Amino acid sequence: MPPIEFVRNLRAKHYRLTLRRDGTPVATIPARGTEKQARAFVKEHSTWLRREYARHEKRPRMAAEWSLGTKIMWRGEMTEIKRATGGERPQVAVGADVFRVAELWQDLRPTLEGAFRSRARIELTARTWELAAETGMDVKRVTIRNQRTRWGSCTEGGVISLNWRLILAPVSVSDYVIYHELMHLREMNHSRRFWRAVAEVCPDYQAAETWLDEHGAFLGF
Ligand SMILES: [Zn+2]
Repeated sequence: MPPIEFVRNLRAKHYRLTLRRDGTPVATIPARGTEKQARAFVKEHSTWLRREYARHEKRPRMAAEWSLGTKIMWRGEMTEIKRATGGERPQVAVGADVFRVAELWQDLRPTLEGAFRSRARIELTARTWELAAETGMDVKRVTIRNQRTRWGSCTEGGVISLNWRLILAPVSVSDYVIYHELMHLREMNHSRRFWRAVAEVCPDYQAAETWLDEHGAFLGF
């Protein structure tokens, strides 16, 4: 386990122990707390921490560098990067999709992630307009972004932003995130009314939430 990070938070009222997505345990020291007490707090919760860390370790994640043969999450499936034949320039196949690369024997991740992002810009944007029409929501603009910590967001003005990494997830999951943001145009909060509206347009939303929770690490967070 990585060493525990002790972070003082002047607004915190209590000691708190959390596990960041990258697996680093973070102990929060409240305004009037001490590191010594924070260490005692961590010790008290060591069983919880070990269990959470074990869960974190078991979650599959993307390799840091990608080459031919690496398995990556693509459209909801672990998919091997393969050499694609044909074409004058080197290209690789990820499932049914083919992407051009500059060079087959270098880290393919930067090139492929760039290509995935362009693909996401086309597909997720089109899908958002489609689902906006289906639900009768008034969307002004769709942007595809590279957020580090969120899947999507929206503004009251009707601008929906989606994380390009949603293209790595199953369609049922990216659809859920789009429906979620669309329903925020009706309810700008996470009230029960909001979740009822989500359930109406996306009855399986809880399964999608679980998928996102379990596979966040896959998507590079
Ligand atoms: Zn929300």
